Order: sequence, then structure tokens, then C-alpha cells
Amino acid sequence: RTVYVNGDYLPEHEAKVSVFDRGFLMADGVYEVTSVLGGKLIDFEGHAKRLERSLHELQIRKPMEDAALLEIHRELVARNEIEDGMIYLQVTRGAPGDRDFAFPPAETEPTVVLFTQAKPGLAESPAAKTGIRIISIPDIRWGRRDIKTVQLLYPSMGKMMAKAAGVDDAWMVEDDHVTEGTSNNAYIVKGNTIVTRHLGTEILHGITRAAVLRFAQEAQMKVEERAFTIEEAKQADEAFITSASTFVMPVVEIDGMTLGDGAPGPVASRLREIYIEESRRAAL
Ligand code: PMP
Repeated sequence: RTVYVNGDYLPEHEAKVSVFDRGFLMADGVYEVTSVLGGKLIDFEGHAKRLERSLHELQIRKPMEDAALLEIHRELVARNEIEDGMIYLQVTRGAPGDRDFAFPPAETEPTVVLFTQAKPGLAESPAAKTGIRIISIPDIRWGRRDIKTVQLLYPSMGKMMAKAAGVDDAWMVEDDHVTEGTSNNAYIVKGNTIVTRHLGTEILHGITRAAVLRFAQEAQMKVEERAFTIEEAKQADEAFITSASTFVMPVVEIDGMTLGDGAPGPVASRLREIYIEESRRAAL
């Protein structure tokens, strides 16, 4: 596999980053994951915009213009012959030398790394046909979840808690209300209304979330952006998650409670179809 590091395209075993990189030492960096369908990028502009915002919030220098970033994405898709899959992009505050809590001088070059992950048949995921099962866990992350930092230890532990419980994923709960999934936004459906948490610092502003809510409204579905409790979720008719890598994924069980008849619901299934179709159409 060919990866990108600070201006170079290299075989993955030759790509290197300093041990003093603040991404490595302090999780001082941000990332984006963009999906690829049919060799084209899904919602590149949304991801580029959120990257810029994350960098700005942390005062990390923006390493290049969006056009240059798009070129690197395309080059990696071509060089690695990616038909369906993902592109991971990470920007850290760089490697100033000595370890120090204070930020390094402004002229320190950020470290930029991109690599691809092939996922043949990404849009035809078998899990979308059966739905996934989740548990709820406390949300003990830091307070700026709207910044897409590489600080992913708790979400990673959450996935392991789900695995240990014999299910697929976990939703995080704070003050009885669901914030989001370990790596996705969370939704419930009550009657014909889609409910998902409002934007704020408590959740990541999902790029897939923005697209799905737009498509839902265009399809005359009712959307409520508000916090919902885990108890409300267990009583819902349907539930689902969204992310760049799973698109729209139905949830059929929460904390051992089966939703509806235990099969993916019509709203989630329809939104998944629309999302994939519209995203393919608009892909770059
Ligand atoms: N919330 C969290 C905590 C995430 O990690 C992700 C995916 N990285 C999302 C939501 C979904 O965001 P997106 O649709 O932009 O992939």
C-alpha cells in the first residue's frame, strides 16, 4: 500500500513519523475519514470543512488548501486502486523536539498522514440487512466532542465493552440522555418522527448526519433535533446510526431490548438507500 506522509508518497513500511510527534505523545491532532464508492469520494467538501474547523479550534496550522488535499485523496485512491473503501487523514501539531505541555512555536510544521483502507462491497454490508445490537455505557469523554481529535481511547474501550457483552457497538449516555455512538451519531424513530441529538459541544457534528437529515427532510420525513433518553430509545419503533464508514445502519436491539419486530425498520432502510444513491451521484 502507498501512503502519504508530509509531501511524499511512500510504501507503507518506509513511511515514518518522529517519536516526538505530539500526535503520538499527547493525542494532539485531528482526523477525518472519507469513504470511497466506485473510486469516488463521498462528501469530500464536508470533511474538508470540518477538518478546517477542528484545526482552528485547536490552533493547529492548516497544512494546505482543500484543492491540494483533494489531489492527495485522489492520488491515493488511484495508486492503491481503491474501488470501495476509506481514506484516513490525520493532522497533528508536529514534532518540535523536546516534550513540553506548552504548544511549540507557530512555525512548527504540522504532520500530515493519509492512507487508504480497501473495503470491497462497502455499500452492500450484510449487517445492514440484519441490523446491529448495542448496549449503553456512560459517556466519560472530555467536553469538546465537536472537535474530531485522535483521542479515541474511551470510544475504543466502549467497542471492547460491547464486544465483551456479545453485541456490536455502544451508545454513550450522559445525564440519562444519549450523546452518540462510539464512532457514529445516534437516532431513534417514534411513529414517523426521526429524533437525533441537537448539535453542540457534546457530540461530533457528523458529515453523514448532516446529509441524512437533509435527505430526510427532502423526503418529507419529520425530524426533531433534541436529546433523547436511553429509556425513550428502548421504547422506540426503530433506531439507527450514521457515519462515513457505515452510512445508515439500523439498530435492532438496545441493552437487550428488541425494537419493533427485531428487523431493520422501514425508515432506516429507506434512508440508507437514499443516502447511498444520492452520495454516489454527488461523489467527486
Ligand atoms: N460521532 C463520533 C464520535 C464519531 O467518531 C463519528 C465518526 N468518526 C461520527 C459521530 C460520525 O461522523 P461522520 O458521519 O462524519 O463520519
